[in-house]
Amino acid sequence: MVEQTGVSTAPSQSGKAYEFVDHKFDVVVVGAGGAGLRATLGMAEQGLKTACISKVFPTRSHTVAAQGGIAASLKNMTPDCWQWHMYDTVKGSDWLGDTDAMEYLVREAPKAVYELEHYGVPFSRTEEGKIYQRPFGGHMQNYGEGPPVQRTCAAADRTGHAILHTLYGQALRHNADFFIEYFALDLIMSEDGKCEGVIAWNLDDGTIHRFSAKMVVLATGGYGRAFFSATSAHTCTGDGGGMVARAGLPLQDMEFVQFHPTGIYGSGCLITEGARGEGGYLVNSEGERFMERYAPSAKDLASRDVVSRCMTMEIREGRGVGKNKDHLFLHLDHLDPDLLAERLPGISESARIFAGVDVTKDPIPVLPTVHYNMGGIPTNYWGEVLNPTKKEPNAIAPGLMAVGEAGCASVHGANRLGSNSLIDLVVFGRAAAIRAGEVVDREAPIPEPNEASSQKIMARFDKLRFAKGSIPTAELRSKMQKTMQEDAAVFRTQESLEQGCKRISAIWGEMQDIHVSDSSMIWNSDLVETLELENLMANAITTVYGAEARKESRGAHAREDYKDGPFDGRNDEEWRKHTISHLSEDGKVTLSYRPVVLEPLTTFEQGGIDMKKIAPKARVY
Ligand SMILES: Cc1cc2nc3c(=O)[nH]c(=O)nc-3n(C[C@H](O)[C@H](O)[C@H](O)COP(=O)(O)OP(=O)(O)OC[C@H]3O[C@@H](n4cnc5c(N)ncnc54)[C@H](O)[C@@H]3O)c2cc1C
Repeated sequence: MVEQTGVSTAPSQSGKAYEFVDHKFDVVVVGAGGAGLRATLGMAEQGLKTACISKVFPTRSHTVAAQGGIAASLKNMTPDCWQWHMYDTVKGSDWLGDTDAMEYLVREAPKAVYELEHYGVPFSRTEEGKIYQRPFGGHMQNYGEGPPVQRTCAAADRTGHAILHTLYGQALRHNADFFIEYFALDLIMSEDGKCEGVIAWNLDDGTIHRFSAKMVVLATGGYGRAFFSATSAHTCTGDGGGMVARAGLPLQDMEFVQFHPTGIYGSGCLITEGARGEGGYLVNSEGERFMERYAPSAKDLASRDVVSRCMTMEIREGRGVGKNKDHLFLHLDHLDPDLLAERLPGISESARIFAGVDVTKDPIPVLPTVHYNMGGIPTNYWGEVLNPTKKEPNAIAPGLMAVGEAGCASVHGANRLGSNSLIDLVVFGRAAAIRAGEVVDREAPIPEPNEASSQKIMARFDKLRFAKGSIPTAELRSKMQKTMQEDAAVFRTQESLEQGCKRISAIWGEMQDIHVSDSSMIWNSDLVETLELENLMANAITTVYGAEARKESRGAHAREDYKDGPFDGRNDEEWRKHTISHLSEDGKVTLSYRPVVLEPLTTFEQGGIDMKKIAPKARVY
């Protein structure tokens, strides 16, 4: 790498200035989860000089924890086609997803899964040796009218683990440079709003690295840790969203936060939906399979937001289990122990460790737990980041892409279907690489390091590094997490959301009084957590304000004060639009809206989807 140490510096309160180690690349990918690795590998394949930066070792990214599987209409076990997958995704999104992106996703999905197979992902197999596919919530045959479809390709219940390790191996085969345990601080932005690179801190030796690039790809994952109880890793702190907000660019649809029905009670550790896919079911304190009452056809395999709400209702009406009647039971003990050992070994182990339960004998105590962020950095279906204006709702922010859970393409709209995220990572990671291959000018010079932007980035870093207020980071973080858990919950009301806005804004104010006790530059976890908290706060505040403003119920955004009408509180006339939120430096959220993309990529006559089939209607399972 080009390293010109000491050419340029930024002042520090420590008395010792920050010296930049400069690098030049065509493309810099931030994040080495499924999305970041697929993008990195594709970029390198296109002959672009590519760097991949990750704050954790690549195979420790949260993708490693994905259990259930990856959706694609391979039809290995039941009839299926991409049109049915499209219908389920549109319905799952509660008609908020962008049609072109959803079509791209489901059409490319089978190809992407075969590509993973050829890369070496050890999928489970059918008797004939084909990729094994299991049923998953909200995936049905025949435009939602038939029985559950077997569409979710699985490597036992460790699909993410298999995919992530395979992708890392493949990325290493190509000529990409990895910067591991480097924490990306902020985007380098030109005066006229173009992204020209990123600055990162090497956690291991304390050096500051400045990456100039023609294209930056954010693949930093979700922000589940803004909540108190989440299935996501402690590293899921929405750093990409924080960087984008600080660069003056907007976030989209942040109010849509998915609760997974089956987090283990107490620890929040996930029990995959695949457990219900294999025949598991939920019961209340009366031993009743209550989902049969709420969703007569899909039952326990209704979509996640629906099951989570039904569970919350059962608990509220006094039919919860346990001493405090505050959770429910998931039964797997009626299933063949051999099947459990073969198909669900990972969750059998999790249940034993985190709940002390032998799944072959006893039910698992479970509770809806924060699991996925549908909102994020707005992009088109090529992964290019959008900076919408009223006149140009699909205008592009030059030099910047976002993929994976950090992005919002938007294929999941108001609610994501299980197993549709892993496929999103690989399809859009690949799409971003193809697009970069077209738009990145290989002959053009790489931008020179932008001094003004670099100084601003280091000034913020230095301010936090030497923050000597009165509130420790951990205290403020736990305050934020509790507020989010209470006020932006499974069910929301005007009152809870107004209270949430007030509380989260007050916490934003308290950030000024934060205390960082360690100012060293080597493995300073206190400072890392403070940087992460700032990023979490950018995500949290836009989530609550977006939710307060959206006066309807849609997907994961369930408002008790909007539940009437033919669509159970969903108001397509006024609210079938994306929330766009800008965040100012002093914590003010400004909201505007962007129309949902309704045009498909191909018409029915070209073999595409029949638009009548996916026209809005009530979402029943
Ligand atoms: C327990 C669990 C089970 C799941 N199961 C499934 C499933 O079966 N099927 C499915 O489709 N989906 C599943 N999901 C959802 C899916 O796994 C995630 O949405 C997806 O893995 C996110 O991938 P990603 O590449 O976007 O981000 P991640 O895998 O979270 O990776 C983020 C990357 O960004 C890097 N990073 C972040 N911030 C910085 C920074 N400041 N500087 C440098 N690097 C940074 C990290 O080091 C990491 O490499 C599951 C999620 C969870 C939590």
